[in-house]
Amino acid sequence: MDTLQQRMQKIEEEIQAACDRSGRKRQDVTIVAVTKQVSADRAREVMELGITDLGENRPEGLLAKQESIESENLSWHFIGNVQSRKVKDIINQVDFLHSLDRLSIAKEIQKRATVPVDCFVQVNVSGEESKSGIEPTNLEEFIIQLAEYDKIRVAGLMTMAPYTENEEWIRTIFRSLRSLRDQIAAKNLDHAPCALLSMGMSNDYTIAIEEGATHVRIGTALVGTESEGDE
Ligand SMILES: *Cc1c(COP(=O)(O)O)cnc(C)c1O
Repeated sequence: MDTLQQRMQKIEEEIQAACDRSGRKRQDVTIVAVTKQVSADRAREVMELGITDLGENRPEGLLAKQESIESENLSWHFIGNVQSRKVKDIINQVDFLHSLDRLSIAKEIQKRATVPVDCFVQVNVSGEESKSGIEPTNLEEFIIQLAEYDKIRVAGLMTMAPYTENEEWIRTIFRSLRSLRDQIAAKNLDHAPCALLSMGMSNDYTIAIEEGATHVRIGTALVGTESEGDE
């Protein structure tokens, strides 16, 4: 098993190569290290290697990490599905929410947030029933409705690709999200600059970068899982 440093180096090389292939700049891609399966110590180690963005998918996990990790230069990302009644626990603790996909959550954010929150609207591009996210055909209307909520800023769109070996299918999903992003951004809505794309995980982040991802959410390929150890 590779060390954390070796994994980080390999991911960096692959990100750089994907940027080169697609004519993008490395600085336009942010790695969100998904630490949901590992300890705060592990999260700290990855920060020492230069990671500035951490992602968690459960309120309890987020709050526990924040309690033991203090860093002014860190951005926190909530990447999981959130229940309305849990919004209050996290919304003033995060820099980005990646999973806004319904008005009940928007209403709760409006009620609870003390400052405007950068949100990604999650889109179910693949149409799999198991996936959360708003349907592409309802996206525009949803985002227009969000104008009423001054605590929500639509920073971008997020999706999860299907778990498949079929790279072309994955690519099609990412390309569709980018095209939806472009359509929303072209509307120049004050509340929805929609410049960002959160897509790509351990298995598909290079494809996502080639298709325009600004935020890749990488868990196992980087920090592993708690049970698997390091060396
Ligand atoms: C767990 C998770 C990830 C990271 O997945 P890996 O395959 O471990 O990289 C990314 N995004 C979301 C929404 C997740 O829940």
